[in-house]
Amino acid sequence: MNVAQLRMWNITLPIGNHRYHDEGYVDSLRDAARKVYQSYGDSESDPFIHKLSRGFYIGKGLDVHVMYLRSPSTPLDIQNRAHEEFHAADYCYGLDFLSSVTQEKGTPINFKEIEDEQVRANVGALFVLDQNGFSSRDLGKYRKYQEMAPAVEIWNKVKPPKKRFFFPFFWRRGQKNIEPIVYRRIK
Ligand SMILES: [Zn+2]
Repeated sequence: MNVAQLRMWNITLPIGNHRYHDEGYVDSLRDAARKVYQSYGDSESDPFIHKLSRGFYIGKGLDVHVMYLRSPSTPLDIQNRAHEEFHAADYCYGLDFLSSVTQEKGTPINFKEIEDEQVRANVGALFVLDQNGFSSRDLGKYRKYQEMAPAVEIWNKVKPPKKRFFFPFFWRRGQKNIEPIVYRRIK
């Protein structure tokens, strides 16, 4: 029985006869992916990688590779890598295991119920973000934020976001001692 160390998920995933290869950060997804394909004698392969993609995974028979670009912030990095790790786990039939991990942490998600594989991977990434004290809000002006929307909707049902309270009373009390500035017209 082989295992995969999913570093963002912080778990050891049993993957049967599969083999997991974490290629780490790469300068170019396209060049790195080409290299992987070439290592399988697949020299013709020119992988299509969306120009906004910041991570990539390759499933080739029993082997699965993940790679990613460096991200400008920690939450983005976690989201990006957890997303690719999810794809790898998905490829190795690891969905039930990942679901049991979410169950153990009190936020159960049945990944097999989520039909779209990208949405699935994003819900998984939101779980990992939450484990690290972050939420989708911390992704900021993430270029692919719109893509996260269906996943955020699912995740918010698993763990409803805390309401943000606004206390105008305290704010007013704080302002009480401030003398209003009166501008007089100079005649
Ligand atoms: Zn993806």
